[in-house]
Amino acid sequence: MPRTAALPRVALPAALLACCLSCTGGGGAPPAAAGAPGAGDRLFPQAGNGGYDVTHYGLDLSYDPATGRLSGTADVTATATERLGRFNLDLSGLTVGSVAVGGHPAGFSRSGDELTVRPAGPLARGAQFTATVAYAGVPRTLTDPDGSKEGWLRTDDGAVALGEPVGAMAWFPCDNHPSDKAAYDLTMSVPDGLTAVSNGDLAGTTHSGGRTAFHWRTSRPMATYLATVAIGRFTVTRSAPPGGPPQYTAVDPRSDDPGTAASLRRIPEILRWESGLFGPYPFASAGAIVAHLARGQGGYALETQNRPFFPGASDPPAVPLNTLVHELSHQWVGDSVTPRSWQDIWLNEGFATYTEWLWAAHEGGDSVDTSAAAAFDDPASWTFPPASPPTAADLFATPVYRRGALVLYELRRALGDAEFLRLLRAWPAQHAYGNASTADFTAFCAHFTGRDLTPLFHTWLYDAAKPAHL
Ligand SMILES: [Zn+2]
Repeated sequence: MPRTAALPRVALPAALLACCLSCTGGGGAPPAAAGAPGAGDRLFPQAGNGGYDVTHYGLDLSYDPATGRLSGTADVTATATERLGRFNLDLSGLTVGSVAVGGHPAGFSRSGDELTVRPAGPLARGAQFTATVAYAGVPRTLTDPDGSKEGWLRTDDGAVALGEPVGAMAWFPCDNHPSDKAAYDLTMSVPDGLTAVSNGDLAGTTHSGGRTAFHWRTSRPMATYLATVAIGRFTVTRSAPPGGPPQYTAVDPRSDDPGTAASLRRIPEILRWESGLFGPYPFASAGAIVAHLARGQGGYALETQNRPFFPGASDPPAVPLNTLVHELSHQWVGDSVTPRSWQDIWLNEGFATYTEWLWAAHEGGDSVDTSAAAAFDDPASWTFPPASPPTAADLFATPVYRRGALVLYELRRALGDAEFLRLLRAWPAQHAYGNASTADFTAFCAHFTGRDLTPLFHTWLYDAAKPAHL
């Protein structure tokens, strides 16, 4: 649901050049390339990397709330997409003790948020490999271009990791771009009495030496920005609602106000209603995390996969119903179907905002027409077209949400209810567990409906000018 972006970024090094050279090789083995230090995102040039595709993160970590120290290893399993002599991972702060590739010690160096790994020998194109990074330190809180906080946020009894858009690199080395989704196994050891809650399913807990290790498994592909772990004293509720996914909900007891409890009780009902819009719930488990962050520190909810996060220290309710509806809708639009690049973020926020409008009408509140009119009349909706946020600081600005929702409102008017609702349900299925761009969406709409929707998308998605009327 949030906001924005990154750290100062270093200039593009010569690695891109080396990458191109590798394609020109004549006879014999081509020279081993250096994987690019960025995934090519217009808004976050240094986010992600080139030369490989991650399939699995195995994070075996330990946290000490008293000192704030995180330590452990990350096994990053990937497939080389070119012959690689070296490659980068994204990591901000922390101290790397050693790196191995395929069990063999590898060289490494750090520059800004880039960790460059040099395997003992080149990796063949198509080869699967595991890079093991041993690291430790007090993880950083990052400040985004829009001023919001992400990365690792300490609380008075633990910590919370929030990663949209680039905060994941504050707590594990990764290919930190939404286009590279992977499965995860996270084991987090914490002092007895504390809980570590993350994405996916709780695969087990082990107790040893006054500590408890929680093993969370995320088998469906997940973007790094959706990975979370929350450590603290939580009231945990597990349930198996009939006909719905099992739930694991962790709430800081101080945030367990009546309004929040009432909201969370409605998760099964909301997921059922959203399944009617978007198709079957895409994941094997659901729930929510409500942690007690200090004021001014991550004061936003986030659609962390399986169980969205809510900050607990604001005025009650900690989990407003419309925010819960918004974050749960992201499980389809954002978490299962993930933007290909950050400029496609309206595909998350426009859809989630439109879902809020539908929910308000469903609950007997404002009609969708009233919500659309309010969005249309808001000058803040018109500062840039939703398909192209001008800078990283605009990623979570009003046009992405409210004008993004107006795109869907106009599409419904053009198609009529029946065809629009069929399209709304078909879209998440088209790109389930993958990535999609704005161009993918407009092409899908044209193909699905057989209509020329170019003028509509030009007016509502791309044009800088505000239309004369709704
Ligand atoms: Zn959102």
